[in-house]
Amino acid sequence: MICLYGRLDDARGYEIRDFLKRSVVEFKWIEMSSDEDCAQQLGLPATGNLRLPVLVTPDGTLLSAPTLKDVAAALGFVTNPRLREYDVSIYGAGPAGLSAAVYAASEGLKTVLIERGAVGGQAGTTSMIENYLGFPEGIAGADLAERARQQALKFGVEILVMREGVKAEFRDGKIWVDLADGGEMIARSNICATGVDWRRLGVEREADFLGGGVYYGAGASEAPYCSGEHVFVVGGGNSAGQAVMHLAEHAAKVSMLVRNHALSTSMSSYLIDRIKSTPNVEVRYCSEISGLDGDETLRKVAVTSPDGTVSWEDTGRLFVAIGGVPHTEWAKDTLIVRDSAGYLVTGSDLITEGKLPDCWPLERAPYYLETSVPGSFAAGDVRHRSIKRVATAVGEGAMAVSFVHRFLEEG
Ligand SMILES: Cc1cc2nc3c(=O)[nH]c(=O)nc-3n(C[C@H](O)[C@H](O)[C@H](O)COP(=O)(O)OP(=O)(O)OC[C@H]3O[C@@H](n4cnc5c(N)ncnc54)[C@H](O)[C@@H]3O)c2cc1C
Repeated sequence: MICLYGRLDDARGYEIRDFLKRSVVEFKWIEMSSDEDCAQQLGLPATGNLRLPVLVTPDGTLLSAPTLKDVAAALGFVTNPRLREYDVSIYGAGPAGLSAAVYAASEGLKTVLIERGAVGGQAGTTSMIENYLGFPEGIAGADLAERARQQALKFGVEILVMREGVKAEFRDGKIWVDLADGGEMIARSNICATGVDWRRLGVEREADFLGGGVYYGAGASEAPYCSGEHVFVVGGGNSAGQAVMHLAEHAAKVSMLVRNHALSTSMSSYLIDRIKSTPNVEVRYCSEISGLDGDETLRKVAVTSPDGTVSWEDTGRLFVAIGGVPHTEWAKDTLIVRDSAGYLVTGSDLITEGKLPDCWPLERAPYYLETSVPGSFAAGDVRHRSIKRVATAVGEGAMAVSFVHRFLEEG
């Protein structure tokens, strides 16, 4: 088994724990107090260059203070594209991208799936998805993603992780995408399934404590380390609710801070019932985080109550789940139409006052999931007016592939 040595409050250590957890890679976490402590434990000279966190693979390869790319490479995850050109390139390996990849490859298209982090997207960060069809007991998001990854590989999808599409260009009837590490990807069509990223709180010192007490999302990898602690969760939607329930299994107390008078209307009613009946969970309505304090890690949060009073409360962990912003920066210099929040506009939503945008070049109208550039599709949360659900993302991924076929047949 992989062994990961580190300090619990170290941001790089958290990043690696999170990546391994989301990638469904079993590992043993071994708490260390210093680099020297670790060197001694591993029987290495204390004067060496060993820096925490340290990852040791089952074959004995030792990585000192590795980047996520180093870790992914050590696990054999990072590969280079095998082909010069693909029928379809899919960006984002969340539920939408994985579904698109499975259907595209199973239907004979040369398919590449490009993911900038770990496979699974937001779904991969959630401890339990209970409303996905066919899993009456629920399924951990990372497990669902891992099953989909294996299915995609079985059909011959090339999955490139730790690769990010940063700029797209449409010419010669193809999409050319620059990758962050300098590579280039060429395909006859593409599906953007880049989802959304967590919105930040926007309070002072937030960046100082990232991964060192402040976490975005469900905290699936961190919950086991919260034993006996009082932790805070910000947000009133489904994802915050799931984080609360998962953390409540380990922490002494979970305080959920909700900006409004009630839990979000988008939160599933089964989750609301559970939150209200869990004794170590308190919900504070009309409350917000207004400050953060600590040294190397988070020690206190300032909570503003409905009457405007601010109280500083001791805690080492704050989980933020307040919705997201779409990943569509890559499209900014293209003819792809985005809405005011940055979501990709597709199909009939492109029509305003009975007219398609001037940039649309074809006689036919755009297909349902097609953007304003023919052959470029969007699926899942990144799409304008999308329904933020795993099932919807999976459905749209599959549907986008049928439009890819129609587009490719147009020649
Ligand atoms: C904590 C939590 C709990 C949830 N619980 C549920 C639930 O119980 N039931 C439910 O139905 N839904 C749930 N959801 C919502 C659900 O997870 C999302 O609707 C779904 O994951 C959206 O899938 P997606 O593929 O569109 O996008 P995402 O899951 O956001 O995946 C997008 C992927 O694209 C990658 N990416 C971004 N930009 C680039 C780029 N430029 N190049 C390459 N890759 C890129 C990202 O790294 C990410 O992996 C939950 C969400 C969260 C966060």
